[in-house]
Amino acid sequence: MSDDNYELETLAIRAGTHRSQFGEHSEAMYLTSSFVSANAAEAAAKFVAAEPGYIYSRFTNPTVTMFEERLAALEGAEQCVATASGMAAILATCMGLLKAGDHVVASRSLFGATINMFNNYFKKFGVEVSYVSATDASEWQQAVKSNTKLFFLETPSNPLTEISDIAAIAAIAKQCGALLAVDNCFCTPILQKPLELGADIVIHSATKYLDGQGRVLGGAVLGNKELIAPVFGFLRTAGPTLSPFNAWVILKGMETLKLRMEAHSAKALELAQWLEQQPGVARVLYPGLPSHPQHKLAMQQQKTGGGIVAFEVKGGKDAAWKVIDSTKLLSITANLGDTKTTITHPASTTHARIAPEARAAAGITDSLIRIGVGLEAVSDIQADLARGL
Ligand SMILES: *Cc1c(COP(=O)(O)O)cnc(C)c1O
Repeated sequence: MSDDNYELETLAIRAGTHRSQFGEHSEAMYLTSSFVSANAAEAAAKFVAAEPGYIYSRFTNPTVTMFEERLAALEGAEQCVATASGMAAILATCMGLLKAGDHVVASRSLFGATINMFNNYFKKFGVEVSYVSATDASEWQQAVKSNTKLFFLETPSNPLTEISDIAAIAAIAKQCGALLAVDNCFCTPILQKPLELGADIVIHSATKYLDGQGRVLGGAVLGNKELIAPVFGFLRTAGPTLSPFNAWVILKGMETLKLRMEAHSAKALELAQWLEQQPGVARVLYPGLPSHPQHKLAMQQQKTGGGIVAFEVKGGKDAAWKVIDSTKLLSITANLGDTKTTITHPASTTHARIAPEARAAAGITDSLIRIGVGLEAVSDIQADLARGL
């Protein structure tokens, strides 16, 4: 497929499909932990990678390969390696590419577990991390040291939808000899292609929009062959690889990725515009709104504003909890990227473990609510929110 210049929606449906001798039309699920060889010589050749072939599903599996090839085609990446979850993708990236004594420059606005991993685990093994503003590229430049090996960001950020300028930060990384890794979970390659903007590595939590229906966990790391080889080396040794069942679920979910991302974005924009009109709402943060502080950059970098909307109510925590507790349709859960709309109060859930002063400095107030806009009718979502507003 790589010889043809297919559109994204075609790649999402067709890329990576391999058929067995039975000619199945839909992608097969290969539920097997290991693979047999025809003879001792073939087994030996497969083990030293002199011959291609499947050995053991901790290394790789044909259904997992189909998922990897499909996502690589969408991101425009030379190589993709699948992981058990988004966090396993971040772990494998760092284990594969960093060593004790290395320094990382990371956005202050990262997924909570990513910050936990850097602060509580990588630090123990001698990797130092400096946190900088997601939105001010000059801070990235100033944070660089002689041992800086990796830049790490996520855009739009969670929950405030801050936009990092991927091209500008990639240029700084290149100049300093560091690699730039971008967590592309919120946009997916349908809305944003970090490798085209100069990033070296793309990371996914496939648990979110790639599956899109809240069923399984999964993740992936993408980049050129040279960078992915050590990441794959860690994964096949340590084992947080993607199960063939989960790979199959996500693979089939990806076939509707473009349709879903466009629908999530259109509904999120309509909801954000409506929220801006509500007297009980103090502020709406959505990259697709002209009122968003980085609307222009977002619209250059992303095709649409995406599916995440954050807003502040008037009246603090009590007012925010009232909105959440008055919903009947929306799911009160911190997850996102689902056909079902989700609602969460970041200050008391996903960001509760951060010290109150640090949380306030990051702009995550008690009045803030985050919505992962699903695919229900916008009028029904509005009615559900209007009750508490
Ligand atoms: C959910 C999420 C992750 C972690 O993914 P899991 O699949 O839950 O391990 C990482 N980054 C972002 C931006 C996420 O939203």
